[in-house]
Amino acid sequence: MQPKFSKNDFLRMHHSLDKIEPSGIFSRYVRGIGVPRKLWEHILDKDWNDWKWQIANRIHTLQELQKFIPLSAQQVSNLEKVISVFRFGVTPYYFSLINFQDREHDPVFRQIMPSEKELEGWGKGSWDPLNEEGDSPVPGLTHRYPDRVLMVLTNFCPSYCRHCNRKRKWPQEEHNITRERIDQMIHYIGKNLHLREVILSGGEPLMIPMEDLDYILWSIRRIDHVEIIRIGSRIPVTLPQRITGDLLTLLAKYSPVWLNTHFNHYCEITSVSAEACEKIVQSGIPVNNQTVLLKGINDDVQTLLQLNHALLKIKVRPYYLFQCDPVIGVEHFRTRVAKGIEIIEHLQGHTSGLAVPIFAVDTPGGGGKVPLIPNYCLSFSPEHVILRNYRNQIYQYQEPI
Ligand SMILES: *Cc1c(COP(=O)(O)O)cnc(C)c1O
Ligand code: SF4
Repeated sequence: MQPKFSKNDFLRMHHSLDKIEPSGIFSRYVRGIGVPRKLWEHILDKDWNDWKWQIANRIHTLQELQKFIPLSAQQVSNLEKVISVFRFGVTPYYFSLINFQDREHDPVFRQIMPSEKELEGWGKGSWDPLNEEGDSPVPGLTHRYPDRVLMVLTNFCPSYCRHCNRKRKWPQEEHNITRERIDQMIHYIGKNLHLREVILSGGEPLMIPMEDLDYILWSIRRIDHVEIIRIGSRIPVTLPQRITGDLLTLLAKYSPVWLNTHFNHYCEITSVSAEACEKIVQSGIPVNNQTVLLKGINDDVQTLLQLNHALLKIKVRPYYLFQCDPVIGVEHFRTRVAKGIEIIEHLQGHTSGLAVPIFAVDTPGGGGKVPLIPNYCLSFSPEHVILRNYRNQIYQYQEPI
């Protein structure tokens, strides 16, 4: 079936920050504009705003996708192969952010739409370039840095990002961590006295059952030497409806909890995601953002500038800008390293320092993250340092005598 939509449907879409209302709701998000509107018109707000409805109604087969976009028989057959390796899934909410008028260039479409390119170049990249498995003393627990560890709690996500660097976990069935695994991890953390931070990751850690999440947080908090709990979650982006009062009450019990999320483009910042972030912050949980630099999605100064400004408006601090890792199936998203440095060069000094994330490359083999900044320090001598500012002017800084 070919979807039909009128010009008026398109006219009602609003896609760019230029059209932001002065009231500050800087979003193109209007539920079900364009193609989805036709198919979701009958959905009650109470259902649409319910995360369980969103999960139950995920689009995760090509047959469902075909209700929204036309695919040739050849495309279907090629994409079936892709999603048999790297599964497909997207929440109606996140899908509804797509600008169907120009979907091939749409940042959300590109992040969720499977591509034949994912199966090209299997020789390039590796399944686990950061050697997370090798650095795991207990399965699913990566201990790379001296004072912090990362726990993988699930391989399930509400929406699967085609650029995910844990794509190696996708071919397994969707599953959550077992109590036995949790206990093994907790035991390891308890034994290692220098661990002062535990990062909950996945998959989507906020999608595991509440009892399990409660149990994990409770177990971590019982360990005296753990100071900080950090949650890495894309929920504010792909399923902000999940940020419920119950969930926030649970998280707030285990303060200090920090949340790192993953907005890649300003079009993901909607009234709904803004409200979710606001509520998280109001629960005493600081929110930071990790963006992945993605070719054709956000690899330009203007997009990242607008993203970072929009993040600050919703009280989310840009933390990292990551170079895309050389993971199998992700090659087509990678940019050159120089691109990231160039982008930082155009942000640093030109805009609020709060809007400038750290550009980092995660080194292959498990060496950890390396921050890369434009070269501002031209030379050192015992007496002085020669510095370059953001305007390319040269200054001499006198060292202490
Ligand atoms: C990224 C990462 C961390 C956290 O690093 P920060 O620089 O503190 O954000 C911790 N452990 C692993 C394995 C990581 O990949
Ligand atoms: S939400 Fe995170 S873990 Fe899940 S697919 Fe996207 S990048 Fe991967």
